[in-house]
Amino acid sequence: MSVTTQHEQMVEELRAADKLLLTTHENPDGDALGSLLAMHGTLEQLGKDSVMYMSPDEFPLSHEYRHMTFDGLLGAAPDDLADRVVVFLDCGNIDRMPVDFLQDEGIKILNIDHHHDNTNFGTVNLVVPEASCTAEIVFDLARQLGAEVTAEIASSLYVGLVTDTGRFSYENTSPSAHRMAADLIEAGVNTHAVYRRLFEDLPFRRLELLARALTTVARYEEGRITIAMLSRSDFEETGALESDSEGIVDHLRSVEGTKAAILVRELLSDGKRGCRKVSLRATDGSVDVSVIARQLGGGGHRQAAGFTTRLSPDDLVSTLRDQVAAQA
Ligand code: AMP
Ligand code: MN
Repeated sequence: MSVTTQHEQMVEELRAADKLLLTTHENPDGDALGSLLAMHGTLEQLGKDSVMYMSPDEFPLSHEYRHMTFDGLLGAAPDDLADRVVVFLDCGNIDRMPVDFLQDEGIKILNIDHHHDNTNFGTVNLVVPEASCTAEIVFDLARQLGAEVTAEIASSLYVGLVTDTGRFSYENTSPSAHRMAADLIEAGVNTHAVYRRLFEDLPFRRLELLARALTTVARYEEGRITIAMLSRSDFEETGALESDSEGIVDHLRSVEGTKAAILVRELLSDGKRGCRKVSLRATDGSVDVSVIARQLGGGGHRQAAGFTTRLSPDDLVSTLRDQVAAQA
């Protein structure tokens, strides 16, 4: 089906639905949260009964998103779930929302996303890999639905746009991403305030965690891989939260010669002992990190991907070295 037809079909589905439940992926990032809020605001404006769901485990949200408020957010299935159309935003794969009630065969799912490796798990899918962020797709849908993009909706969309494009620096920063930015600013986004909330005014523990990560940096394959590791004790001793590791991998990515930047961090919840989250970032396109993430049970974009693993640090490093060497 052509993209236009997919767009039109999604607009029709949203127009026809009266009761909806919106959700995203676990460990939500700026695009996930911004798209969720913007879609919710749009649907409410159109007079629909929209509710949002995220697991209570996601809270507190990562520090940069602390100003985003989710009025009436559900932390469990609503009684009337069977009457609701479920909308997934920015979620490439249904396993990224490991919640039983959302895996039920009987529910109708609208899947709106921009991951090129999206598994099309929805009843109706709108997957636009050319979109810089899911927020860009939501922006299009909101206008096609005839909603007014208020300053509040625009600010949520802007969070998705700025975070997923790496502040307009990644390869996905298309002309339409910049046009969207202009439109959102015209709609009333206070860009300076958004930047301060997202990237400044950070708790000191973040700097301490970064400092620890930087002491572990190792380089392999003649510098093509730059990798750092954070252990449970790094988090415990600095008082850092898992989400405080956000952005550390970007420091690794900026090092000369790096083709793949990798942050490995031990997960903190008791049920995940021995489990590590791996964040992968590519630099110049010579390595497709989504291929590596998929091989190891995760996924993502060519330039930014991730997975979780129970491999030991040594086995993990040798696996990652083999994977990068196979590509670059
Ligand atoms: P992160 O390293 O968590 O910032 O994730 C970078 C990108 O990889 C995001 O676009 C995610 O959608 C994707 N990603 C991260 N972890 C996973 C996973 N376990 N499965 C699929 N995609 C993932
Ligand atoms: Mn995204």
